[in-house]
Formats: sequence, structure tokens, C-alpha cells
Amino acid sequence: MDYWVIRICRSCGSEDQIELTKEEAAFHLYDRESVEQKACTACGSTQGKSTNQQFVKLDQALLDQWGMNAHLKISDQDEHLTLAEVDYLPMILDAIDHQQYQPAKIDTLLEAVCVLLYDHVVNPFEYSPEENLRRSQIADSVRPELQKRKDLIRKASLGMMDYLKEVVFPEIGLTKDER
Ligand SMILES: [Zn+2]
Repeated sequence: MDYWVIRICRSCGSEDQIELTKEEAAFHLYDRESVEQKACTACGSTQGKSTNQQFVKLDQALLDQWGMNAHLKISDQDEHLTLAEVDYLPMILDAIDHQQYQPAKIDTLLEAVCVLLYDHVVNPFEYSPEENLRRSQIADSVRPELQKRKDLIRKASLGMMDYLKEVVFPEIGLTKDER
């Protein structure tokens, strides 16, 4: 079973793994209630306590589906935080440049890249020198990508949080009050 959700029985506490497709797992496309009401394989109870789902790493196919379908969500909220991963950066930049995705999704991707820079420049005193070296290497690889796409960032900036703009925009030659 590659993708699954866990159902914990309210009566006996045993756990059942319920198989999902990759898309169901990545976009949370299963019905939580019907998972919880499935009969426990140990005691038969239909009272599920809670569900736990594994983390699904995004690949190109999943990102494309998400980008082209307004209804697909990779997390219930703050998708830009979920997308702010170094591993996703090449796919994200490619998607931004090809502009095949829904405009709102492109804005989310732009915000995700801003978060990625933010995460690697903010609060250096909380990290060791070694960690900061690694962080600044990542920041140095993200910063020029944002600088190249400054005009797109400016356009997407209306929906961005102030804390993000305050740290990231000066790094890429924009002011935080950019319109
Ligand atoms: Zn049970």
C-alpha cells in the first residue's frame, strides 16, 4: 500500500490502514467521515476516533494537477507554506515561468518562493554557524530567482503577509509597501 489514511478505532484502539490513490492522499480527496465510520477490522465497531494521513511529497504530475484545477488543495490552509521546500523549487520556478496554471495558483507559488527565502534568512541567532552557512547557501540560490521575477512578485504582493514582505522584499530590491 503506497498511500493510505489511518483510522483508529474508538472502541478497541486498533488501527486500520485504508488505501488511497496518490491523488486522494495528496489532495485529501477522501471523505473523512466515511473513513471514520468504516467497520474496525478487529472488533467491527463503526466508531472511528481520528484519522492520520501520511505526508505526500509532490511530484511534477501532482503539482500540474494542482496548478490547473482551482478545486484541488494540497493543504487546508497556508498552501504557500507547504510548498516552500527546496526540493520543489525547480518545479515551482518552471511552473511560474510557463504560466499554464491558474493565476491564483501562480500567486501561491510566488509566495512559496518568498517563504523559502524568508525561512533561510530570518533569525540567524537561532541557528548554529554551520546551520547558518547552509541556510545562506540556500538563500543565495533562491534570492536571484526571485530577483529575476521581481515584476511577478510585485503583482502578487497584494495578497502576501506583511511579515513576509518586510523581510523578503528588501532582499530582492522591492520595498515592503510595493504596489
Ligand atoms: Zn475496534
